[in-house]
Amino acid sequence: MAGGADIAWLDGAFLPLAQARISPLDRGFLFADAVYEVLPVYEGRVYRLEQHLDRLERSLREIRLPPPLTREAWRSVFGGLVARNGRGDLLIYLQVSRGAEPERSHVPRGIAAPTVFAFASKVPPPLADPDSRAIACVTSADIRWGRCDIKSTALLANVLLKWRAQDAGAVEAVLLRDDMLTEGSSSSVHVLLDGVLLTPPQSSAVLPGTTRDVLFEIAPRCGIECRQEAVPEAALRGSGEVLLASAGGGLRSVVALDGRPVGDGRPGPAFRRLYRCWWESRREFSTECSE
Ligand code: PLP
Repeated sequence: MAGGADIAWLDGAFLPLAQARISPLDRGFLFADAVYEVLPVYEGRVYRLEQHLDRLERSLREIRLPPPLTREAWRSVFGGLVARNGRGDLLIYLQVSRGAEPERSHVPRGIAAPTVFAFASKVPPPLADPDSRAIACVTSADIRWGRCDIKSTALLANVLLKWRAQDAGAVEAVLLRDDMLTEGSSSSVHVLLDGVLLTPPQSSAVLPGTTRDVLFEIAPRCGIECRQEAVPEAALRGSGEVLLASAGGGLRSVVALDGRPVGDGRPGPAFRRLYRCWWESRREFSTECSE
């Protein structure tokens, strides 16, 4: 996330981010017993608001934590963050942890109120030019846990994977498990094969990405078929177009994989069509939130 965050929201109140404090006994800190969301804001409007809240509620259900806020309350928090952080283009980060208990115990005693935290970072607006979205990636073995469908803050494997990618001069690690594509360390991966855009089926091995859902909606508008289908490593390596989808990064075109060019080493024709459609549909898919 880019910098520039000023006003945060913590457990019911807006406050300067630098003044936000939580207990060291918070279970999010001790156990990563917490889930999160990252929501883009384009020109002051929250992108795919309901889809992010659907996924947040799903993650909370999977970790047996009741939703701490109603949808209306979330919308009001987002509206307040957007207004207080200058509107424009932002990324909202929100996290719900199981809160702080007096003793460290793996099994929660069920006495803590959840800690609910959100802040907004200023980000540059995405450029219209698809060539601005070209990136290099490396492949890595998917060393993460078995419930990657939960948007958990337990991201140590993702941290190490992306760090290793950066060491290799790349932006993202594209992950392989048992010779099959799963996803990126912080993105969904789509591969063009025989003119069809494929992404691995939803399972506990991948996060239900909100941007990947956007692709399923906009691809038919560009005349591109988009399907969930298993992608073997050989198909990934043989593909002429590989693209990444994420709330934080939008759509990006993978032009080099493990140091070798993908296609002709530039964003391909399918990406160019999809990116234009994604860029133009940002307003359609976003919502004004009031406090
Ligand atoms: N997969 C992983 C592991 C992620 O961390 C992310 C986003 O952070 C995604 C996929 C993409 O999800 P979304 O499009 O909702 O950002």
